[in-house]
Amino acid sequence: LNPENSNYSPDELDVEKQLRPLSFDDFTGQEQVLENLQIFVQAANQREEALDHTLFHGPPGLGKTTLAHILANELDVGIKITSGPVLDKPGDLAGLLTNLSPRDVLFIDEIHRLSPIVEEYLYSAMEDFRIDIMIETGPNARSVQIELEPFTLVGATTRSGLLTAPMRARFGISSRLQYYNTELLTTIVQRSAHILQVPISMEAAIEIAGRSRGTPRIANALLRRVRDFAQIKGNGSITIEIAKYALEALNVDAHGLDEMDNKILSTIIDKFKGGPVGITTIATAVGESSETIEEVYEPFLIQEGFIMRTPRGREVTEAAYKHLGRKRNRPGEL
Ligand code: ATP
Repeated sequence: LNPENSNYSPDELDVEKQLRPLSFDDFTGQEQVLENLQIFVQAANQREEALDHTLFHGPPGLGKTTLAHILANELDVGIKITSGPVLDKPGDLAGLLTNLSPRDVLFIDEIHRLSPIVEEYLYSAMEDFRIDIMIETGPNARSVQIELEPFTLVGATTRSGLLTAPMRARFGISSRLQYYNTELLTTIVQRSAHILQVPISMEAAIEIAGRSRGTPRIANALLRRVRDFAQIKGNGSITIEIAKYALEALNVDAHGLDEMDNKILSTIIDKFKGGPVGITTIATAVGESSETIEEVYEPFLIQEGFIMRTPRGREVTEAAYKHLGRKRNRPGEL
């Protein structure tokens, strides 16, 4: 089960939308980020200006898209949604930009994956609310300047390290989202269960929350699967017994670690004697880019105390051996 990359059915996408908080009040966690955003939005609303361009970065599934929608709701404006890899040519972007109403939000997911030409084109739009477009072709081709309505670009990225410096500099607001602790995720699971109209015990909500890799999207996906078990194997209510049974049957790791998390830990243990080992070496060994390991996997493994960063590289902790059911061979031992 990997809710991150799985192909959701249309029904499940609907449920995803249903579970999405719509206002600041509805949103759980990320307190610091939220407090600041509320002030910036209130100030922009008072001045009747567009909110400054805003960048959200952090691991997948923590609420970047949700926050972009909330910003549009709280600004009481429309939102247009696209993503870096979809915007192939400057023309695609021009079409979106010229259709924005004053103060609208343009949300670009995976903004680190914009092509350099499109990115360059975006600069003047962000800075001066102006773009050049080419009209006519052949010898008559010429470029004309078009004024845009003031708008807010909201960019989201899991790989802030890959953003170019000029791009980064054009965001007035930049917020890093953090993993959620079990308490916050429990609240989210309870809220989602309420929306899905499925009764759930406190203990069961905590159990699901604790196995969700600090990630609301995973918590919601697990809740939906456990709900299926409650419906078929139980009486529809999610009890702690049903939750444990379902999570076991779904093969969900006790900590909610996913396949790559476990692969990283076992590789460091099996191939590098527990470390220390450099990030690029780990990356090569597990077949993933070192940026992704650093930005997507490692932060959670460090937060949960499975990996330590040392001056000589990454080292796994005792907790990682225990988690994988391995015995640590001390130096000198066989
Ligand atoms: P990605 O970068 O992978 O697109 P994301 O960070 O944009 O992920 P979202 O799509 O915003 O993540 O969130 C995933 C799901 O998690 C949403 O459907 C939403 O219901 C839920 N969610 C996210 N954050 C919260 C929150 N703070 N409270 C309640 N639900 C949340």
